Amino acid sequence: MAKKRRIVIALGGNALGNTLPEQMAAVKITAKAIVDLIEEGCEVVVAHGNGPQVGMVNNAMIALTHEDEKQPNTPLSVCVAMSQAYIGYDLQNALREELLNRGITDIPVATMITQVRVEADDPAFQNPSKPIGKFVSQEQAKMMEENFNYIMKEDAGRGYRRVVASPKPVEIIEIGTIRTMVNSGDLVIACGGGGIPVTRQGNHLKGASAVIDKDFASCLLAKELDADYLIILTAVEKVALHFGTPQEKWLDQVSVEEAKQYIKEGHFAAGSMLPKVEAAVDFAASKPGRTALITLLEKSRDAIQGATGTTFHL
Ligand code: ADP
Ligand code: MG
Repeated sequence: MAKKRRIVIALGGNALGNTLPEQMAAVKITAKAIVDLIEEGCEVVVAHGNGPQVGMVNNAMIALTHEDEKQPNTPLSVCVAMSQAYIGYDLQNALREELLNRGITDIPVATMITQVRVEADDPAFQNPSKPIGKFVSQEQAKMMEENFNYIMKEDAGRGYRRVVASPKPVEIIEIGTIRTMVNSGDLVIACGGGGIPVTRQGNHLKGASAVIDKDFASCLLAKELDADYLIILTAVEKVALHFGTPQEKWLDQVSVEEAKQYIKEGHFAAGSMLPKVEAAVDFAASKPGRTALITLLEKSRDAIQGATGTTFHL
């Protein structure tokens, strides 16, 4: 039998929904798409985003400080950990059920709570720019800056929002365990929300007030697991040049060199498509034979067969 293709899948926001009932419904569809790939003969590792979920947990924990003055504010790293567990629970539950529904009984499913190390001197910490959580008034923003040490920024006339740093992932702390589980055939969910950001202080790992981009964390995970594919599932079937303009051109196959040129020309929006293309380029350039793919969740089976999506190769 041919060696199974190892795939790291990065699930975007549309694979998980925005509320508890939405997530419960979305993971069923997501599980179908993932098990489709397993039936195609792929070995799958799942990573995912957590934007709406970590915002929800963060808001809930702030509400707790209002209810009970003995409760200090919850660090963002703890909120990320909570979101990993909550999303992992829904995903592993739905994946287990979908596998059993198709008569696949020999693939255990588990979520790895994952810490991802970032550098304390990452320049991103000097310029927190990633908005998280809900919009608040100027007075509330001032209160949050004073009480919680948050950095609040006015966001395009819509009110104030907390901003945090988005440093680059440099090390997946639990990679040894993840590799052991993947090598023994388990279906593993890891690096949720980009991972719990931590910095090293001797033997101590300190939670950082930051969020790691899940596209970059997934790329590091795929490289560390020597995956054949990094598949970034998002809200568009393909990546475009001149996106949203009359000159829009959907891309099928892109070389690393071409993609770097397109990045320079500014075709990909910061904070949405740019990190995906950067992660795709980084993975494809890291070793011959590695392929990155950006497509829609519903198209992942077609895309792995080469029928759609945007593919990045050396
Ligand atoms: P996710 O939750 O999957 O990370 P994002 O909303 O962050 O999704 O990023 C995907 C979005 O990026 C697409 O829905 C699209 O609106 C936008 N986008 C920006 N530039 C491009 C481009 N050049 N080609 C395709 N999509 C683009
Ligand atoms: Mg995104």
